[in-house]
Amino acid sequence: ATPTAIMVATGVGAKNGVLIKGGDALERAQKIKYVVFDKTGTLTQGKATATTAKVFSGMDRGDFLTLVASAESSSEHPLGKAILDYARHFHFFDDLSDTKNGHSNNKSFDWLLEVTDFSALPGHGVQCFIDGKKILVGNRKLMAENGITVEEHVEKFVVDLEESAETGILVAYDDDLIGVMGIADPLKREAAVVIEGLKKMGVVPVMVTGDNWRTAQAVAKEVGITDVKAEVMPAGKADIVRSLQKGGSLVAMVGDGINDSPALAAADVGMAIGAGTDIAIEAADYVLMRSSLEDVITAIDLSRKTLQRIR
Ligand code: ADP
Ligand code: MG
Repeated sequence: ATPTAIMVATGVGAKNGVLIKGGDALERAQKIKYVVFDKTGTLTQGKATATTAKVFSGMDRGDFLTLVASAESSSEHPLGKAILDYARHFHFFDDLSDTKNGHSNNKSFDWLLEVTDFSALPGHGVQCFIDGKKILVGNRKLMAENGITVEEHVEKFVVDLEESAETGILVAYDDDLIGVMGIADPLKREAAVVIEGLKKMGVVPVMVTGDNWRTAQAVAKEVGITDVKAEVMPAGKADIVRSLQKGGSLVAMVGDGINDSPALAAADVGMAIGAGTDIAIEAADYVLMRSSLEDVITAIDLSRKTLQRIR
């Protein structure tokens, strides 16, 4: 394409909230064969909401929530925030029903416990110590790697959550599995329509996620994607992009997280969700400022139409 064509396309993009960082990516966008979507925060709203707190240990429900929320209080992960929010509401209503005490406002976190040695374990969950005992909050992999036994009835509870497209977060305290949190993250409203539109344009949509297989499959089915890669560790997303490129096909990646930045850089066209992390935005060729998936189509369409017309 001529410099003029690129300038025009870049201008049209900007007007539509699609920031294009270079002419090369703009040219490549018209030949995209695969679009790889991150799940959490890209296909889904990324506004995870805790729906369920199931205690398996006979522990008091409020105590369980206090422990889990305290463990997640330093986490920046959407799942951690969802758990904290659920516990905050529980304690607020608990306070209201307790007529002896004056109740605090619902923004209060004064019930949180002191946490030491916190670490976020990407693709697994979080680990820290409360009262000198280790607490683990995360997926099966985290439990397995720490030798925590997940009994059959607990496993079944998690499977049921996953089959309804929720994520089950397991909680172990002092080496015992004490409960499970269920977390829902609804699809973006436009997601299914955009996937259908891409297919009509001859583009193959793919989903990648660090989440478990069952939740991933349930979400993929809802949105209309058949090609799914789940339980992918952060570095694995870029490998998936590279393997799709092997046959000479051009691959776009759409993502929002720190985890997605290697894949955004590896892709022929990296598209970052505008509401995403700075690192993702930096690694991408395109920034979708409105954070709407419709703009994945806008971007490809713009490249196809504008560059073909002004030649
Ligand atoms: P995605 O690729 O979908 O954005 P991540 O790689 O961030 O997912 O996380 C993968 C999985 O690791 C989550 O689905 C969850 O099971 C677990 N996990 C990660 N961070 C946390 C956390 N702060 N609390 C609980 N579980 C977590
Ligand atoms: Mg994400």
